Amino acid sequence: MDYEYVEEIPKDLECSICMGGLENPFVHYECERMFCEKCIKKVDRCPLCRKKLFEQTLSEVRVGIIKNMLNDLKVYCPLDKQHQINRGDYFNHVNDSPHKCHLNCGKFVSNTNLNNHKINDCPEFVINCDAFKYCLTKIPRKDMEQHIKDCKYIFLLPIIDEIKQDYQKQIDEMKKEFGLKWVPVNLLNNLENEKYDVPAYCKDIFGIVHLKGFVKINRQAKEKHTIFKL
Ligand SMILES: [Zn+2]
Ligand SMILES: [Zn+2]
Ligand SMILES: [Zn+2]
Ligand SMILES: [Zn+2]
Ligand SMILES: [Zn+2]
Repeated sequence: MDYEYVEEIPKDLECSICMGGLENPFVHYECERMFCEKCIKKVDRCPLCRKKLFEQTLSEVRVGIIKNMLNDLKVYCPLDKQHQINRGDYFNHVNDSPHKCHLNCGKFVSNTNLNNHKINDCPEFVINCDAFKYCLTKIPRKDMEQHIKDCKYIFLLPIIDEIKQDYQKQIDEMKKEFGLKWVPVNLLNNLENEKYDVPAYCKDIFGIVHLKGFVKINRQAKEKHTIFKL
């Protein structure tokens, strides 16, 4: 962990490999010095006594008083430099204590509730316009009310819905009428030998499929390309 310590770390609690406060300390029996577990397990020789390290000469420090002293080291809260906290409380504090929302909405939320706050509540969180399939506006929630009053796409939504339903009706009728096989419209250019009449479709901007007329398709093309059935 990259703790930012408030005060100079007492020499006895400092790891001479990473120069930070000891984390999960291990002691080297030959020199009786302590190192972080992650630091000492990265090297072959003890950086202080230069002796080769073996599993038997290293051991985890379980002494309560040392653990307590390490837990009591003061570090800065990464979310608010005004907070000086005991290193032992670091994770609880960062996750569970309310801090100023980082989008500067002025509210206080804990890290565990931050996502929820942003998605449902934060006035500074950037959201899409309700008509987001058509309107590309993305602005903070607090400005959306005004945008919706002015947005021409919102106004168009019911009309677009009506058009969609209308198209769908046409498609349904065509299906009834032809019992259709459909081909993708990009086949149109490739077909020269004309043998079969097949209805072709295209997708409009609403993703709705509709008939573009009939194309002539030869046997080879029919085998090479998928012919879509609706
Ligand atoms: Zn270390
Ligand atoms: Zn040593
Ligand atoms: Zn804090
Ligand atoms: Zn917020
Ligand atoms: Zn809009």
